[in-house]
Amino acid sequence: MPHFHTEPRITVLARPQFAEPAHLPVQWIGEGTDGERLAEFAGRLCYMSQKNPANRTTRDYLENIKKQGHGSVLEHANYSLLLEGISRSLTHELVRHRAGFAYSQLSQRYVDESDAAFVVPPAILGDEALVAAWKAQIESAQATYVALVDQLMARYQWVDDKVHRRKMAREAARGVLPNSTETKIVVTGNARAWRTMLELRSSEAAEFEIRRMAIATLRVLQREAPAFFSDFEIYVAADRVEAARIVYHKV
Ligand SMILES: Cc1cc2nc3c(=O)[nH]c(=O)nc-3n(C[C@H](O)[C@H](O)[C@H](O)COP(=O)(O)OP(=O)(O)OC[C@H]3O[C@@H](n4cnc5c(N)ncnc54)[C@H](O)[C@@H]3O)c2cc1C
Repeated sequence: MPHFHTEPRITVLARPQFAEPAHLPVQWIGEGTDGERLAEFAGRLCYMSQKNPANRTTRDYLENIKKQGHGSVLEHANYSLLLEGISRSLTHELVRHRAGFAYSQLSQRYVDESDAAFVVPPAILGDEALVAAWKAQIESAQATYVALVDQLMARYQWVDDKVHRRKMAREAARGVLPNSTETKIVVTGNARAWRTMLELRSSEAAEFEIRRMAIATLRVLQREAPAFFSDFEIYVAADRVEAARIVYHKV
């Protein structure tokens, strides 16, 4: 019986570490994380306003940056997240977000999927009959995958390099695995890129699973750097599922 995921798991792998140059100190006011300080430093360099003549807190300063649409300042702060418990169909949509992102995803050619887990589509959760029908299909697909790998390994016995033979078997057999197969992906993005992706994928128009992942990611990043993501508001939409809307569209 495979494992079934009903939530994404999100882990922060890396965040900015700001090293303030002693010869260009900024008059900081208020709280700020390293990512926020780095962006403020970069923004202030443009006008050499390190003395902070307007007496702005870091969070007010960055609020103004978003309001003015100076999104390039946010590009200095990168966050790397490990996303797990998400489906291949979700990542197929996620990797369409190109600008400012880097991805490394589990390879189904190399990794044995005989014990792969699967992600229950959020829309069927709570309906036992639908979940049972869906699980039956999943289990059958995985059994076919296992049988195909075995048969292909035998068929290509003459390929001496066992690693290559396994790859040949797995890359063909994966064709029967469903979109719901769980995957893992490392995603690095700068704050501007995360904002653009989250705006699109946390909206009511987005598919339920990626929307759930986007809301969870938004909560993680709001803790990392509130100033970059404070203009997102999470609410329960008419379809009774969480969505988010943004004040400063695509800065
Ligand atoms: C609700 C929803 C439904 C969707 N449905 C479909 C669908 O049915 N079929 C489908 O194929 N896709 C679909 N998509 C994906 C969509 O078309 C985009 O590929 C995806 O949202 C990434 O957007 P983007 O290209 O703006 O992002 P990014 O690649 O991250 O780009 C961000 C911004 O950078 C700029 N930019 C990036 N690359 C270029 C470039 N080469 N030239 C000029 N400017 C550039 C643009 O301003 C762009 O908006 C859907 C997306 C959503 C949110």
